[in-house]
Amino acid sequence: MKSICAWSFALIVGTLLTTSQHPPSMSRQAVGSESTEFSPERASFSVRFKDELSPYHVLAAFVLPGETLNLAVVAEGTDRRFVVAAAAGEIAPAGDRRWRWTAPTATGLYPLTLAQVEPPDSITLNAFVIVPYSDLEGETLNGYRIGNYPARPLRGLSIYRPPRGFIEVTPENQATLVAPHFRLEQFLCKQEGGWPKYVVLKERLLLKLEVILEAVNRKGYKASTFAILSGYRTPYYNRLIGNVRYSRHVWGGAADIYIDENPKDEMMDDLNADDRIDYRDADVIYDIIDEMYGQPWYAPFIGGLGRYKRTRGHGPFVHVDTRGFHARWGT
Ligand SMILES: [Zn+2]
Repeated sequence: MKSICAWSFALIVGTLLTTSQHPPSMSRQAVGSESTEFSPERASFSVRFKDELSPYHVLAAFVLPGETLNLAVVAEGTDRRFVVAAAAGEIAPAGDRRWRWTAPTATGLYPLTLAQVEPPDSITLNAFVIVPYSDLEGETLNGYRIGNYPARPLRGLSIYRPPRGFIEVTPENQATLVAPHFRLEQFLCKQEGGWPKYVVLKERLLLKLEVILEAVNRKGYKASTFAILSGYRTPYYNRLIGNVRYSRHVWGGAADIYIDENPKDEMMDDLNADDRIDYRDADVIYDIIDEMYGQPWYAPFIGGLGRYKRTRGHGPFVHVDTRGFHARWGT
């Protein structure tokens, strides 16, 4: 399924990251690799953009054509120097450790690199110029079926307004890292359809998944990424599978996750080592997430948390989302 193009693209993105000359211990780990040691891939500084604060060596940022993105480096110490480089668009200084990047108008991927000069360290923002929502033609976008977003947001909440736009996913860009341990293709809707495909995805969800992945590894469960049973769902597909209309998946803010490392069989691993794959394995992940609630740093990640039993159609999994308020369900 992966074309030569996709792989050469992955190499380019990889090169961008490795040229920042991290010490070997900080080098990027491939998603799903057999590497023994989990690395959280945190830089020695953070980048602030939109409402997000990311310490990771790589993260996606989604912008509209020609939109201006304010970037700020957040770092301790005053004697550190940072520079920014953009693959395209315009970079303008905007104060101490601040810049303004004006995105190109053409849809696509335009990596931005924020780098510390000495000692070398960097953060790459894989910036995607998305296709505006207004480009939808009826229920489709370039032949890909999206369906209808509800005209009226649930309880008037802004998180249920139609999305600003759609990330265009192609065979060439599908393997792009959207976070250190997640690739764009992991979030694709499971519906039929050719290329290009379209995805809605929230940066906050990516940050939350990284935080959870780090916690899971810290607890001793080896996971190089999470297997994602369901990431983005178009309203069309969400309706097709009979799900609730206002599912956070439709807004790119939810993921149904499980750990699938040993064996790699598209099924949850036996995390609690009782020789059974059941809801108790989902509980292991659920409880680790549950433990983080209430800690001040976790506040931006508060959202839905649900656990699901194994059925004939799927293994046990945990639903996480970034709706902004507390919600719990599951057995
Ligand atoms: Zn879900």
